[in-house]
Amino acid sequence: MNCAKHINTPAVAQCRDCREPVCTVCLHTINTEPYCEACAVNHHQQSPLSALLFSLFVPGLGQVYNGEWLKGVLIFLTGWLILPWIVGIVDAMLVASAIAEGKRPASGVPPGYLVLAIKVLSVFFSCFYIGLVWLILGTVYAYISR
Ligand SMILES: [Zn+2]
Ligand SMILES: [Zn+2]
Repeated sequence: MNCAKHINTPAVAQCRDCREPVCTVCLHTINTEPYCEACAVNHHQQSPLSALLFSLFVPGLGQVYNGEWLKGVLIFLTGWLILPWIVGIVDAMLVASAIAEGKRPASGVPPGYLVLAIKVLSVFFSCFYIGLVWLILGTVYAYISR
């Protein structure tokens, strides 16, 4: 079988989305899965570092980045207890690297434009969240020291 675009070049893989044969020039490997040039645009390499940064700024956001929405919401709601926040950071990194190595399916991972939106939102959201934690801890402290 030859490449769909380069008719005289033998194909080395088949695109995971459109099933078209691709040669070494056309092949885009993302999270160990083969894609053609056109389909590669819809996917991105999962990065443990991004997962770490997302989780660090907003608890649960690393999970959303990994496509684990429910776990993300759970960690977001309990993040002010600090321990779930830390667990969430480690978990996000492990899951992201598992997806990057092809050990976990990347089917739930949000598309590129959504990841970009998460990046922008995380900046605003982290200010809001840290402010909220500050308020809760301040109230608790005021209650205890009374
Ligand atoms: Zn394709
Ligand atoms: Zn080709």
